[in-house]
Amino acid sequence: MENKMSPNKVEYCTSCGIRLEEKGNVKFPCPKCGAEVGRCVSCRQQGNVYTCPKCGFQGP
Ligand SMILES: [Zn+2]
Ligand SMILES: [Zn+2]
Repeated sequence: MENKMSPNKVEYCTSCGIRLEEKGNVKFPCPKCGAEVGRCVSCRQQGNVYTCPKCGFQGP
């Protein structure tokens, strides 16, 4: 059996690093590389900069 990536991977906010487990969190593809970027609701409201975990792209 191949051990694929866990379907229950934990997502973290790319801005502050907290776990994304509450409502209101957002995930969207990185505009540069398409990797999934997660943000928590508070960072979203504050408009914190996010950093793509894959390519390092930063955006508002
Ligand atoms: Zn956050
Ligand atoms: Zn990226």
